[in-house]
Amino acid sequence: MVKRCSVCNLPESYPDITFNSEGECNYCTAVREHYQYPGFEALKRDIDKILSQSSPDRKYDCVVGLSGGRDSSYLLYYAKEVLHLNVLALSVEHDFMPPQTRQNIKTIVEKLGVDIHYIKNDALNKASRACVRSWAKKPDVAMCATFCTGCRYGLKKLIPEHVKKVGAPLMLIGDSPFEAMDYRVKLLCDGKAETTKNKMIGYAKRLFKNPSYFSSFNSLYYQAQDFVSWENAKGNVIPTRIQPFYYIEWKKDEVLSKIKALGWGYDQSFNSTWRSDCYINMLRQFFYKKALGYNDTDVYYAQLLRDKEIDRSEALKCIQEEGDFSEDAIRTVLKDFYDVDLDDVLRRMKK
Ligand SMILES: [Zn+2]
Repeated sequence: MVKRCSVCNLPESYPDITFNSEGECNYCTAVREHYQYPGFEALKRDIDKILSQSSPDRKYDCVVGLSGGRDSSYLLYYAKEVLHLNVLALSVEHDFMPPQTRQNIKTIVEKLGVDIHYIKNDALNKASRACVRSWAKKPDVAMCATFCTGCRYGLKKLIPEHVKKVGAPLMLIGDSPFEAMDYRVKLLCDGKAETTKNKMIGYAKRLFKNPSYFSSFNSLYYQAQDFVSWENAKGNVIPTRIQPFYYIEWKKDEVLSKIKALGWGYDQSFNSTWRSDCYINMLRQFFYKKALGYNDTDVYYAQLLRDKEIDRSEALKCIQEEGDFSEDAIRTVLKDFYDVDLDDVLRRMKK
């Protein structure tokens, strides 16, 4: 039986986890002592302040990046119907979007009556293919982060550039506390402090262990861009970004009921409504679970437990049901998008 935190269920194998005498983990203690939701009024006040300082002739108050997934779909609804903002949806298109996700985007902007712009992320199309193929030759769980190479480039560079062109003063971001997945960075830093330097050392070490990464210019170039973006993410990126779900609690039932009413759906091969907007995520979660025994699903439910939105036994059941993906679905994604054979990868992982 795996020992788990008495509050959030995170397992004892989670990096740097410790438990106090009540069985509560250090992550829960930190959240309890240092984080409180500022609330809806604070959110309104911060948004109004930014809008009051911007040009009254602006066409849009804000931009929401719409992936067609659960949380960005809800954020678009929230911006339009709750915050009453004049919002532009921005979709970053790539090859790894399930058909249902593309349909969600169309349906939701139509139902909400908001404008949408589409931009293409070819960086992701090229770099993800190269990275997964290289990874598969010598699978290392810490390097699963490279599957999304090019995606962060889209988020941190292509989107802000487009928003600037449109002239909107504000971007709303759908991140929530349960997306602070620090275990992935910890893996790359090999137990050392999570600094950019240690991340780069951990990454470089792994490149040399698996030299096939050097065979693709795209994979290296966009990986390097990711390191640049990590730095930028801490500084001031124009336009101003606000994360509403750090102000108000994200409520699973409320989110699902609102977006389902707008015609939102998800690809059933995903098991879960969360992040069902990208096949690459499915791959990552599958391999994290295989190698570590946990994945983002555990961290997601940990936060819902801290927010007291669900009880422990229900959360454990959800982790078991939603944390795993069927090998058939993974096999198809690996074959169709990457021309990689799952059985080869699993054999190499065992070595
Ligand atoms: Zn905990």
